[in-house]
Amino acid sequence: MIQCLNFVGGQFVAGSGAAQTVKSPLTGKEIGTFRHSTAQDIDAAVKIAKKASMAWGKTPAKERATLLLNLRTILLRDLETIASQVSAESGKTVAEAKAGLMKGIEVLEFATSLQNADQGGRMQVSRGVFCEYRREALGVVAGITPFNFPAMVPMWMIPIALGVGNAFVWKPSDKVPLTSNLLAKTIHEAGFPAGSFTVLQGGRESVEAILDHQDISAVGFVGSSPIAKKVYERGSAQGKRVLALGGAKNPIILMPDADPEMATRGIADSFTGCAGQRCMAASVLLAVMDQEGKTEKLIQGIVEKARSIQVGKEMGALISRESLDRLTGAIATAEKEGAKVLLDGRNPKISTELSEGNWLGPTILDQVKPGSTAACDELFGPLLSIVRFQNLSDAISFEASSAFGNACSVFTQNGAVAERVANESTAGMIGVNIGVPVPREPFSFGGTKTSKFGVGDITGQTGVEFWSQLKKVTVKWAETSDKNWMS
Ligand code: NAD
Repeated sequence: MIQCLNFVGGQFVAGSGAAQTVKSPLTGKEIGTFRHSTAQDIDAAVKIAKKASMAWGKTPAKERATLLLNLRTILLRDLETIASQVSAESGKTVAEAKAGLMKGIEVLEFATSLQNADQGGRMQVSRGVFCEYRREALGVVAGITPFNFPAMVPMWMIPIALGVGNAFVWKPSDKVPLTSNLLAKTIHEAGFPAGSFTVLQGGRESVEAILDHQDISAVGFVGSSPIAKKVYERGSAQGKRVLALGGAKNPIILMPDADPEMATRGIADSFTGCAGQRCMAASVLLAVMDQEGKTEKLIQGIVEKARSIQVGKEMGALISRESLDRLTGAIATAEKEGAKVLLDGRNPKISTELSEGNWLGPTILDQVKPGSTAACDELFGPLLSIVRFQNLSDAISFEASSAFGNACSVFTQNGAVAERVANESTAGMIGVNIGVPVPREPFSFGGTKTSKFGVGDITGQTGVEFWSQLKKVTVKWAETSDKNWMS
């Protein structure tokens, strides 16, 4: 059993709130415990972070980047250890856990380049008068993260927020707190000063105390849409800068002319990767049907690819029993509403040592009704709902009617069709023949509609803007003969 702790002022300490145990989704066994952080724990930690932020914010960008480079080396050294921990507590495979951490390291690499890329700007704006930008940290900022990427999602925030000079307070998901202690160790070893990086364990009450704390200037949140909305509203009402990323129901438009191998592999991988617990996973297939049966054949190809995935080896587990119940319930409801189960992942074959885990194999529902739960609601599991359309326009209209707007992909070999989907789709991240269209740095990550509350994106340059502010300094050193309003 791992005793998972808070990390405050460079030391591991226990919170003083209620104790909670952590179960592995793979085995159902208890693997750790932690204590929630009370409002007093949070206040004490923020005081230390505030003090640390004064010196850290004044440290030259190049020195801050040197510590980020140290962190990169340590993370790569500890990749296996961190990935095993991520896998044990979140249920994903070790390979997926590694890939997630590597994606987080890409954000870190972007943050290390800020010392070279972010030159600010200075120009003579009037005779003898110079104006310049200075990018400054906000002070103490916080990040609140979901269960599904215990290392990657925090790494969307930590390198940029620390890199621009803030003290960062992280509240990991109470479902997957254990990885945070490994990350805290690596950040400490990289040389970040005590108090510049803090971990506070907890759930709703800890989040509320963070949102209400007057010395925290900005909050980045990633999680489900209802909580994202609450966090955005409460934090904004407290005068904070808030960017809250929410849930998703990502459609893939399948055209009859799609390349069979790219489409069937891309779509099967998209809805089954990380057992469908990715905010970028495909969860509804908008199949545009044709007279020659090409789309029908592609659907069969997706079913065959998904059927061949070995549950427990190539695909991980669901986070909890509640998740499993939610998904099996949704499958039963869809069946009652007339959907056909093309691939049934209920009660998959699984080895004895994993038999107490939360397992659902890849599941594909066909003939799903457009307005139904299976077509519209985020279910967050390896479930693909197929809604059939007679033409592209109707598929595009369905996409536009979604409450979510994270990702939308199209599989086609027709450039004009791809361009039309890219133009008319209402989602924030579009894929063409890509099942999981996650942008890579310097391109930023963020959706639209209820998939994001707030302005800008969480990574890339808009992430830099979110975690920092621009000061404008106007200077004159000598009197000039031709005076104007600025002179
Ligand atoms: P969640 O919303 O339940 O929890 C997210 C965070 O909020 C956790 O730290 C949790 O402790 C905290 N929290 C839970 N209930 C709260 C409450 N009532 N008040 C305040 N804070 C609360 O999300 P989850 O189940 O951990 O993660 C899965 C969700 O995250 C899915 O909806 C998924 O789509 C979404 N997600 C979105 C993105 C994105 O980039 N848009 C990325 C990853 C995950």
